[in-house]
Amino acid sequence: MSNGSGTGPCGACKFLRRKCVKGCIFAPYFDSEQGMAHFAAVHKVFGASNASKLLLTIPPNKRLETVVTLCYEALARVRDPVYGCVGHIFSLQQQAVTLQAELAYVQARISTLQHHHHSFPMPPPTPSQADVAAACCSNLSSSVCTTMDPSIDITDLCNVLDQQLDNSM
Ligand SMILES: [Zn+2]
Repeated sequence: MSNGSGTGPCGACKFLRRKCVKGCIFAPYFDSEQGMAHFAAVHKVFGASNASKLLLTIPPNKRLETVVTLCYEALARVRDPVYGCVGHIFSLQQQAVTLQAELAYVQARISTLQHHHHSFPMPPPTPSQADVAAACCSNLSSSVCTTMDPSIDITDLCNVLDQQLDNSM
């Protein structure tokens, strides 16, 4: 930290044990603390020279985002040499599938309760998600349907639907 001038080398140059010259392409993005650890991963996965060449081809206003994604990919690859960040994508896709199934289940349950409440002589809801959603939208008020956003939190959804059921009873 104390190199006399007050401004130490950037994390990249510190890691590469080289002099950090004025205008160093890595300096704005890699500080000498955490930046050095990040750069170590980038260097291990992509190579310092390749990272430098890549950054030179990117307009300066987009380099920060480039560095952030390079670091993200490099750290993920170091952690998981087989899948890298794809492992994270797989796990998020799995989560999305699980949540969609949970949502379909809740919608089917609501639909069943509504049918029961109104004593409609309707057949039980089919397990198809599209049918469940269609049945749900034709039976619930539009105020509830507008909250059927795929991004909605499942707990919020249940609260809204519980409220709707309470009001209708
Ligand atoms: Zn530097």
